[in-house]
Amino acid sequence: MIETTLVIFKPSSVARGLVGRILSRFEDKGLTIAGMKMMTLDEPLLREHYAHLVDRPFFPSIVRSMTATPVIVLALRGRDAISTVRLLTGATNGREALPGTIRGDFSMSNQENVIHASSSASDAEAELKRFFKPGEVIDWTPQNIDFLYAASELS
Ligand code: ADP
Repeated sequence: MIETTLVIFKPSSVARGLVGRILSRFEDKGLTIAGMKMMTLDEPLLREHYAHLVDRPFFPSIVRSMTATPVIVLALRGRDAISTVRLLTGATNGREALPGTIRGDFSMSNQENVIHASSSASDAEAELKRFFKPGEVIDWTPQNIDFLYAASELS
C-alpha cells in the first residue's frame, strides 16, 4: 500500500547540522517528500505526541531536549513507507542501532537519537494530523515513479 509517514528531525540533528545528510538518505531510497516545515514544539504538544512516556522519569528530559531548538517535520510517501522508514531509522538507542541505519550511523544516545519516525499506520495518521495543517501534505506523483516501482507495487 502507498503510505505517508511522519519523520521529525529532532534538535539533535538540527543543531548538529545533519538534516541535509539524513534527508538525502530518504531521497536516495526513493521516498517522496510530501510535506516539510520547520516548527517549534512545546510541552502540551509533546505530552500528546509522547503520551506513552509521560509518566516515565525521563519525560522532563525529553521535553527539554525536543524544545532546545526548532525541529523540522517531514511527511514521506512510498510503498510501505511506515515500516520502511522505521527500518532506515534503526533502534531507539543509537548505541544499539545497527550500522547503516540513521540512528546507527549518527547517534550515540538513547535520547538524542536524531529523528522520530511513526511506528504504525494509526500513529502515522494521528501524527501527520498533529504536525501538519490541512493542505500542507501534498498529493503528487514524481515523474520517475515507473523507475521506482513495478506497476504491481503501485496498485
Ligand atoms: P522510538 O523513538 O524509537 O519510537 P519510543 O517511542 O520508545 O522510541 O521513545 C520516544 C523517544 O523518547 C525516543 O526516541 C527517545 O528520544 C526518548 N527515550 C526513550 N527511552 C528513553 C530513555 N530511557 N531515556 C531517555 N530518552 C528516552
